[in-house]
Amino acid sequence: MTHTIDHLELPTASLGTQRRVVVHRFGTPGARPKAYLHAALHAQELPGIVVLEHLIGLLDEADAAGRITGEIIVVPFANPIGLSQQIMMEAQGRYDLDTNRNYNRGFPDLIDGTAERLEGRLTQGGEENIALVRNAMAQELAARRDLREADVLKVRLMGLSFDADFVLDLHSAWEAMLHLFVTDVNWPDGADLAAQIGADVVLIDRGNRMMTFKSAHALLWKEIAARFPDHPVPPGSLTAVVELRGQRDVDDHLTRPDADNLFHWLQRRDVVLGSPGPLPEARCEPVSVAGLRRLMAEEGGVLIYHRDLGDRVREGETFCHILDPETGIRTPVHAPVDGLLYARRSHRFTRKGQYFCAIAGDALVEG
Ligand SMILES: [Zn+2]
Repeated sequence: MTHTIDHLELPTASLGTQRRVVVHRFGTPGARPKAYLHAALHAQELPGIVVLEHLIGLLDEADAAGRITGEIIVVPFANPIGLSQQIMMEAQGRYDLDTNRNYNRGFPDLIDGTAERLEGRLTQGGEENIALVRNAMAQELAARRDLREADVLKVRLMGLSFDADFVLDLHSAWEAMLHLFVTDVNWPDGADLAAQIGADVVLIDRGNRMMTFKSAHALLWKEIAARFPDHPVPPGSLTAVVELRGQRDVDDHLTRPDADNLFHWLQRRDVVLGSPGPLPEARCEPVSVAGLRRLMAEEGGVLIYHRDLGDRVREGETFCHILDPETGIRTPVHAPVDGLLYARRSHRFTRKGQYFCAIAGDALVEG
């Protein structure tokens, strides 16, 4: 058996306390391909925690049969700091209460430092260059001197994942269809993941320098390739955000098939031996994140939907009203685009200007 469990200590943030990250490792360190999966970076997004628990069981069986060919790292709950942030029985794990910062922003931006270290060193071999980039990233990470607990957590998660061939960041929305965010540099490579996991929506973005966990990986590979056009630098990792429906969708009848699908995908990508079976047909065409509309409430009040999650809406259609209980006025909410109502906040009360639902518009992915 190769399964080991490590505990990475985080620096003490508050006197008398210390938190740790639990890391499950399978396979041989340094073996390829390497896969890294974590859940609940936004700490209250629980379904991924349960999915990874199921996945660890499947990996244990594969491990006992000697079927793990690569290296696999699983971090079932990636944000013990956020998990500790409970206020009046409500988990507040999206933002660091210490700094007011979104836990999925501000990951180490290694792009400029890595590019500097690569100056004059890249070759004409793609695989060789991937190794050089990973080496430069490792040096950049090793040179960091972060002090704050949340910053050290981000460096630790990057340290576990920066050299992985496959990086999956499992999130959930408040209530949502299963959807994926993939950076263009990793598409259509990620199409088999979308099909295998049964994504109802796939949103393709360009990456951004706010440095989400995904951008800290995908944007780096994209930028390094762009800065050294005379040398082949293929993406060294396929990174995706998998949004596992809504935060309450933790039940086994949903999470067990998700784990089966992730396991089959790892087989498909030769991280684990065995036949994954035929690839399911994709449930959707990818759309550009440029067509995504996050709706802000024009009035405060109670949200009354006339469409369900997963329904298609037409541009201009009144799919919701906001009831002002003081005046009895119902303000109509019109769909700004043709698309799919794929995510909503759970609370049916909104303040003026608050985000309350999202529609994935039918915008085509730019080539
Ligand atoms: Zn999230």
